[in-house]
Amino acid sequence: MVTILKDYDIIVIGTGSVMEIVTAMEQENPNVKIAVIDKDEPGGICLTRGCIPSKILLYPAELIRKIETARDFGISVEIGSIDFRAVMERMRALISVDINGMRRGLTHTKNLDYYKDVAQFVAPYTLKVGKETIKSEMIFLCTGSRPAIPPIEGLENVKYHTSDSILKLDTLPKSIAVIGGGYIAAEYGHFFSAMGSVVTIIGRNRQFIPEEEPEVSALAKRELQKHVTVMTNHEVRSVEKTAGGKKKLVAINKQTGKEVEISADEILVASGREPNTDMLRPEKAGIKTDERGWIITNEYLETSQPYVWALGDADGRYLFKHVANHEALVVYYNAVQKKGIKVDYHAVPHAVFTDPEIASVGLKEKEAVEKYGKSNLLIGIQRYEDTAKGLAMGVKDYFVKVVLESTTLRILGAHIIGPQASVLIQEIINLMYTPTQSAEPLIEGMHIHPSLSEVVQRALNFRMSVDQYHHMMEHYGLLAE
Ligand SMILES: Cc1cc2nc3c(=O)[nH]c(=O)nc-3n(C[C@H](O)[C@H](O)[C@H](O)COP(=O)(O)OP(=O)(O)OC[C@H]3O[C@@H](n4cnc5c(N)ncnc54)[C@H](O)[C@@H]3O)c2cc1C
Repeated sequence: MVTILKDYDIIVIGTGSVMEIVTAMEQENPNVKIAVIDKDEPGGICLTRGCIPSKILLYPAELIRKIETARDFGISVEIGSIDFRAVMERMRALISVDINGMRRGLTHTKNLDYYKDVAQFVAPYTLKVGKETIKSEMIFLCTGSRPAIPPIEGLENVKYHTSDSILKLDTLPKSIAVIGGGYIAAEYGHFFSAMGSVVTIIGRNRQFIPEEEPEVSALAKRELQKHVTVMTNHEVRSVEKTAGGKKKLVAINKQTGKEVEISADEILVASGREPNTDMLRPEKAGIKTDERGWIITNEYLETSQPYVWALGDADGRYLFKHVANHEALVVYYNAVQKKGIKVDYHAVPHAVFTDPEIASVGLKEKEAVEKYGKSNLLIGIQRYEDTAKGLAMGVKDYFVKVVLESTTLRILGAHIIGPQASVLIQEIINLMYTPTQSAEPLIEGMHIHPSLSEVVQRALNFRMSVDQYHHMMEHYGLLAE
């Protein structure tokens, strides 16, 4: 058999964040010959099975929880029924518009060859895609990540879902057990409980959503527990089908060793993400990975093989879409425009769209103490309910916490739990991208009264030492467990 070797100016794997670079390159030079490869639907994880479909589902969940509070404000309202299939179909219909648009773009662009297949390195700068072998002196690896499946006895013998397959559901499970206690578990646990499922989240870590500040996690657990059973410090050891068609999970309390049985109609495995490099075979191309398989890059995002760049989840650093977008820009500047720009992670934000919403940026208190020393820090704190808008909304205990360097008022990190946390944190994030990173513009700038943004400004006006902060939180009854 004759192997056809096709040569490209650039080969791109993945159709998510890296497409920003492809579009920019096509605009600059329509003659550039590009190969784009993705084994899955075009649009990448964010559009097809990550951020966007999950947030489309979470919006009706948020509405349900809001409507349920109406009676606190003297409004009598009842939710008649929830059409779960309609909720799911709306999500699928909305994302398919963009997926189809992406597909059209990929199949109708001059000088761009789109391969819907697995790409595998066979030699440096050379990949096998389906029956073809393709080559380029510049390659962008945006291979993303996939759900990690923990080695639980019996799990392979039962039907379980991941955040990929859950999007295909049409019937609401009466009950669902979520294996994992991170942000995907917190978001989907909230979604299914709002839709009407009985939800049990089983997290291995002592802390629910372990990436957050301990007091934020504790409050999130307390609040979500009003609708969901949240087990922490429990490891699922076995899963089996029962005669009644349900699934029985056995979890062990890691502290006491006590076994607990959980019965559910469906299981969602949400216990982390792993790289896709097993199918890529980077080792055949001189591209180094770490012990878990994430692609190693330098601070310019170049891999160990010159002119091969990696970005997004593939490098295993911060698995967020906005980080992937930033990295795509850095790769564009460095690979295409030869600028030599370093990737910047000094203020990486994220949000967890659970109930209540959480948002965070920069250093956590413990990290700041380790880096700068307790005596060099101040913590700003304010509860929503201590502002006019928070009072009007009838919310309780939600708060804004800002970690600052004491002499300069440089913002080191911020953590918010409560309504619109992901929006409120943005003015802090923006200041963290100014030359001084000082909180002063936020302290001095007028904030519309009575808007929720006042809670952020007031947190910065209400500054105290780390120890005073802990006393204050104790007084509020908001310390971590
Ligand atoms: C349920 C869920 C919710 C999320 N919510 C958020 C959120 O709210 N906010 C946020 O910032 N982030 C969120 N994320 C994370 C976000 O989706 C990812 O960080 C982001 O989409 C990664 O994009 P990427 O550009 O690195 O990869 P993408 O380009 O999006 O994906 C890589 C693609 O490459 C394909 N591929 C991999 N290897 C090969 C190969 N060898 N051959 C062919 N194709 C291959 C993969 O199948 C995949 O389609 C969420 C993720 C999940 C799973």
